[in-house]
Amino acid sequence: MNYCIANWKMNKTLSESIKFLEEFKKKDLENIKSKIILCPSFTSLKILETHLTGTKIELGSQNVHQKKRGAYTGEISVEMLKEIECEWVILGHSERRQYFLEEDVIINDKMNTVIESDLKPILCIGENESQRNKNETFDVLKNQLSTALSNITLTSKMLIAYEPVWAIGTGLSANFDQINEVVNWISQFLLQEFSLKVPILYGGSVSAVNCESIISLENVSGFLIGTSALDVNEFSRICSIVNER
Ligand code: PEP
Repeated sequence: MNYCIANWKMNKTLSESIKFLEEFKKKDLENIKSKIILCPSFTSLKILETHLTGTKIELGSQNVHQKKRGAYTGEISVEMLKEIECEWVILGHSERRQYFLEEDVIINDKMNTVIESDLKPILCIGENESQRNKNETFDVLKNQLSTALSNITLTSKMLIAYEPVWAIGTGLSANFDQINEVVNWISQFLLQEFSLKVPILYGGSVSAVNCESIISLENVSGFLIGTSALDVNEFSRICSIVNER
């Protein structure tokens, strides 16, 4: 099974989200074998859920709080997501790490809460440019994975997204060899350290032009897509290319 996940970040109002979905449903994605997951803003989640009836498209949240309830002004809980049938949650996105100071231990708490609540995490990991230049990529990934996955009940119903920070939103995707080397390493590491076999996605400037070669890599099971998922034509082109694999 391959995945195409749209992370709209802080883009698209409610009406823009509905417009996208109505256009997207007109695309020829009837016999889609891969899983399409839309991650809109919190304000669009509930309405999109009603517009998804009769489709195979699923919904994801871009974040959730690690506590189940309480005095956490401005936050969203797992129960709130479950009630509106949102099944997936993106965790550890590099923008959350960078701008909201989410550290691996917080991501670990969130992973725990999400899995305990039967939601499915999409765990993002990735090195930044200076870490790559200093040959620290595998140490960084090892730390991120070891902490995020420690002391929790692991589930095969989760996804890992390898997203090199330097490739996110830059128009400069990691190249074929870089992606291949890292996803193979992640797959081995998860198996050895956690006896875990889960789909590994790539994210970072994925487009309709570069997705075909990346999806042909043995250990890449789809994409987490930012910029290219904002345009309904581009996103549906990516979905149909992934679907042919
Ligand atoms: C992302 O933010 O997860 C992402 C992959 O963004 P982009 O596709 O724009 O690089």
